[in-house]
Amino acid sequence: MVVLSADAVDRLDVVGADLTVDGRRFVHLDYAASAPCVRAAADAVRDLLPYYGSVHRGAGLRSQRSTLAYERARDIVAEFVGARDGDTVIFTRNTTDSLNLLARALPAGTTTIVFDGEHHANLLPWPSPVRLPAPADPDEAVQEVRSAFESVRGPALLAVTGASNVTGEIWPVRALADVAHSYGGRVLLDAAQLAPHRPVNLSELGADYVAFSGHKLYAPFGAGVLAGRGDWLDAAEPYLRGGGASLSVGDHDVTWATGPARHEGGTPNLVGAVALAAVCEALMQADRAKLDEHERALLAALPAGVTLFGGRQPRVGIVSYALPDPVAVADRLGREHGIGVRAGMFCAHPLVRRLGGDGDCGTGGLLRVSFGLGTTHDDIDRLCGILFP
Ligand code: PLP
Repeated sequence: MVVLSADAVDRLDVVGADLTVDGRRFVHLDYAASAPCVRAAADAVRDLLPYYGSVHRGAGLRSQRSTLAYERARDIVAEFVGARDGDTVIFTRNTTDSLNLLARALPAGTTTIVFDGEHHANLLPWPSPVRLPAPADPDEAVQEVRSAFESVRGPALLAVTGASNVTGEIWPVRALADVAHSYGGRVLLDAAQLAPHRPVNLSELGADYVAFSGHKLYAPFGAGVLAGRGDWLDAAEPYLRGGGASLSVGDHDVTWATGPARHEGGTPNLVGAVALAAVCEALMQADRAKLDEHERALLAALPAGVTLFGGRQPRVGIVSYALPDPVAVADRLGREHGIGVRAGMFCAHPLVRRLGGDGDCGTGGLLRVSFGLGTTHDDIDRLCGILFP
């Protein structure tokens, strides 16, 4: 059996794993909302703070070291996503920000195509998208995308999730990308839920763009990534107009930067970017097969929950249940048992309704259990002992 090196294990140790409530270990099973930080992120922040300074803006020691750290973070993320020639890596605030950025950078007349099983962050930013019904199996997804592209003329972008934030099911991204490319289209991969669990290599998945959030990837809040083809991004209006995005400003004209700077106006989130990159690096060094094996074993210990593809696709550590009054159940798990899960519509209203989680955000929906690094069999047993005795 392959064993992780001690160092790799340490760097992916969850910070605060020993948090207690009423004398018992607190069981966090809401990773899909925000994952706890791992040591790699905490150490990177600690090491950076003595040199903390403004990026790209000063000649002094702090600024120089900060600039180096920021650009190294970009290089690490580029490696994490398998960036190709001509790809760019832009630091954003989170996945929502990344998707809005790309939506604004689309060439005029681009048709966008989405499934209505998407998280709202990948449903709402796109201008008048062609909305496809959430498919009942992966082949149907491919068929729907083929038909959509058949009636499209001009540039087109399919925006699709890597893994559902409701069912945890992994979408057939490679097959969808192959169809999109056969019609000359492009693909954006919303990897907010995939990146914490599986590699998100642009070439291997066949995606043109990828977006994800640091706070779901074991890093602090406030940093995200949009990576992918630079041509549309370099031709687009800057996402945030201001210092950093501009190369030179005259009385009546501006020359905008190209590359990531064009869309990173203002002082960037250095700490967030460095912490996020530190986790990417630790994940690249880790034995992913071993992590997957642990995740599969934990999944096997849980009842299957609701699915879109009926078990025909693998899933990440996210399982949702259609129960009476899920909000009250989640509340009771938190107050009486020291277990944190989430109930509601998960910012995916069309999908949750389709899966039987009717109601509104405050009262209805589904109960979601989501886990990751640091989750133990004991955690899952404690939950199951209460929910499925
Ligand atoms: N996409 C998916 C699949 C998500 O699950 C989420 C958040 O839950 C997002 C996008 C939005 O992420 P953020 O809130 O970090 O912008």
